[in-house]
Parts: sequence; structure tokens; C-alpha cells
Amino acid sequence: MYDLLVVGSGPAGATTARIASERGLRVLLIDKRQELGAPIQCSGAVSGHALEEVGLSPEGEFVQEAIYGFSIYNQEGQKTTIDYRQLKPDEYGTGEGKKPLGYVVDRRRFDRYLMTLAERAGAEVWLKTEGPGLSTLPDGSCRVLLRRFNKELEVQARVLVGADGLQSQVGKWAGMRTHIKLRELASCLQFVVDGVETDGLLEIVTGHRWAPGGYAWVFPKGHGYAEIGLGVTRTMTRQNAQAHLEQFLKESFFKDRFKGLRILEIQGGGVPLAAPLRTQYADNLILVGDAARHVNPITGGGIHTALSGGKIAAHFLSELLAKGKKPSRQNLKGYQDRWLEERGNFIWKLYGEKSKIFKNKDISSRDEQLYQIMSGYFSPHSEYKKI
Ligand SMILES: Cc1cc2nc3c(=O)[nH]c(=O)nc-3n(C[C@H](O)[C@H](O)[C@H](O)COP(=O)(O)OP(=O)(O)OC[C@H]3O[C@@H](n4cnc5c(N)ncnc54)[C@H](O)[C@@H]3O)c2cc1C
Repeated sequence: MYDLLVVGSGPAGATTARIASERGLRVLLIDKRQELGAPIQCSGAVSGHALEEVGLSPEGEFVQEAIYGFSIYNQEGQKTTIDYRQLKPDEYGTGEGKKPLGYVVDRRRFDRYLMTLAERAGAEVWLKTEGPGLSTLPDGSCRVLLRRFNKELEVQARVLVGADGLQSQVGKWAGMRTHIKLRELASCLQFVVDGVETDGLLEIVTGHRWAPGGYAWVFPKGHGYAEIGLGVTRTMTRQNAQAHLEQFLKESFFKDRFKGLRILEIQGGGVPLAAPLRTQYADNLILVGDAARHVNPITGGGIHTALSGGKIAAHFLSELLAKGKKPSRQNLKGYQDRWLEERGNFIWKLYGEKSKIFKNKDISSRDEQLYQIMSGYFSPHSEYKKI
């Protein structure tokens, strides 16, 4: 019997599996994909602090570009630049003893790296494995039916960790309400391009005209490449993300900058700009990462929150099981309480601010509010700096 069966080897699941294994638990980590992180559905921006917090170093194996700050634009192109190379020149930069603020990572390599660390820490990893069902046993453990390389088999575990992303099924097995409302889901599309210059900054473009209910971005991707993308909320526009992205390329204040670009890859996916799930646990089960909506509801960033959620889950579960306590619904509530205390209450606060902005029917004042909150969010004095 395993202590933990972790479903999904993204940043949340692989981190839970690694840290729980390091703390002595017997862990099985499964993922339905045969190649982790592929197809890529992420721009890969993550802060150095997020990596540090879970004991990771920015390895060349997955880092594509170093990031030193942000430029936030309003719809017309007016910008606020927060460049840590200028704000804190002794700490951030390329010279000796200096460091980047964050990174753009390659999610294929990053996810594989995180999975490898989990495996090296002692977790068993099965790829191309899905779990179609769950039942609770009288001894307080659970039995999960798995399909591995098209063969069905059963596995017994004390706790099931659902780290299976935005479209999580694990919570549904236990009858949890994991449905996401269309008005809280950003539909995202990005092009990886050649021929667009960048300067170590994450550029974020707000404004209803370009990205209703979301924002557009230009991120450096390394080797002279860039990512240009946007997310839109489909209840706020009749057009899909592709139409908005084409419009942004052709009509925005960046149109001259984008003139010579060549598209190398097209990537897309959904981002929950939603509140965390109100209940992230059931008997023998917890959810972590996107599956629990551990996402920043303003930026849509979910790598940091997935990593830190994985760490919180692994610490909580290893302590609970070490005390010989049953992973009952009642006891697993402690996981959510700890998550709220360490991270979730900030996310709820951000969600409140986001909701207030998007309830505003006056588009120009809403645009102004979004521009202000984004600029404030990335400022060095932001109370949210660490999420
Ligand atoms: C276009 C786009 C751009 C983004 N850019 C950024 C960004 O720049 N920075 C940032 O911080 N965040 C970004 N995000 C969000 C970020 O990608 C997610 O929040 C993050 O990946 C969540 O990690 P996770 O581990 O919870 O889930 P995931 O990374 O989604 O991992 C879930 C894993 O579970 C597996 N799985 C699913 N179902 C099953 C099943 N039934 N059985 C077994 N395995 C299963 C999947 O194969 C997958 O490997 C972006 C998202 C999109 C769509």
C-alpha cells in the first residue's frame, strides 16, 4: 500500500511527491501523458522566489530566459516599468553577485525535471497512467482503479492527491463541486515567435480593446524568441482568443514592432481566474494546484501557487500520517486551513479585488482599475509580491 497516490505530475503533483518522499512517505506519482508538459499550455514565467521556496535552483536544463522586471501598459501604450536592474542594481542584474528576479521556463523540460527529482527522492512514477475511479475501504484507506498502458489495475493508498490540473476529475470522483464558471475562465492563446525584440522584462498589456476580461503579454523566450499571447473571458466578448490575438498583432501600439515576426509555435489553454475551491478535501483525498484553483486570479499565474501548494500538502500529509491519524475528511481539513493561512487568504483577497473590477460596467474606468492593480501588484512594495 502507498501512503500517497498523486494524480498528475505537473508542478503541484511532482512537488507534493518529491517533498513527501523526502519526508519518508511511500509515494506513487502518475500522469496520463507520455511526455510531461507537452503539448505546452503555459508561458512559463516564474519568480526566483517561487523556485527557492521549494528548494529548486534555476537550472540551465529548463530555464529559457532570465527576467528582471515588468512593463505594464494601458490600452493606449502608456506604461509603468518596474525594472529591478534599476530599482535594486546591487542585487539584480547580470554582473557578479547579482541575480535575475525570475525566469521563463520551458514547461516540457521543467515538468520532466520536477518529476525526475520526485523519482530521485524515492517516488515511484508511472506515465501514461490514468485513474478512472475511487472507492473508500473500511480500513480507512482508498482503492483506486488505474489504467496503465491500457491495462487496468488497482492500487491502494492512504491518501489520494488530486493534482490533475484545471479539468480535474479526481475531486469529481469524491463528489466535490469542482465546476468552473465560464465567466471565471480565461481562454488563452499564444504564439512563440521569432523577430520580436525583448529586454528581460515581462510586458503586460491591459485594456478591453485587446483582451476583454484578461490581458495580453509579450514575454522573452530566450535565443531571440518571444511569446506573444493573450487571455480573454468568453462571457465578455463575442470573439475567440485567436481573433483578439490577431487584432492585437495588427492594430495595437506594438504593430510596428510585430511587423516582421514569424510564428514558430501556437499554444493555448484555459486559466481559472476564479476563487480557490471552498472545499479542497474529502475522505482520503485532497486537491492541490489548478485542481484546487490555487491560482492568482489577477495574473492567472499558477506555477508558484502550484509549487507552494505542493509543499504545504506534502508537509501536512507527512505530519498527519506520522502521528498515525486517519486521513478522514475531518482531519484533512487541516490541510486547507494551513493552505489558507500560508497562501490562500491572499488569493481570496486578490479574488475580491478582481471581482470588483470585472463587475464594473464602465469599460474605461474598469480598464484604468486593471492597469492600476497590475502596476501595483508588480511593484516592489506590493503586499502580494510573494504570490
Ligand atoms: C496559455 C497559458 C499560459 C500560462 N502562463 C503561465 C505563466 O507564465 N506563469 C504561471 O505561473 N502560470 C502560467 N499559466 C498557468 C499554469 O500553467 C498552471 O497554473 C500550472 O501549470 C498549474 O500546475 P498544476 O500542477 O496544478 O497543473 P498542470 O500543470 O495542469 O498539471 C496537471 C497534470 O495532471 C495530468 N493529468 C490530468 N488529468 C489526469 C488524469 N486523469 N490522470 C493522470 N494524470 C492527469 C496532466 O497530464 C498534467 O501533467 C499559464 C496557463 C496557460 C493556459
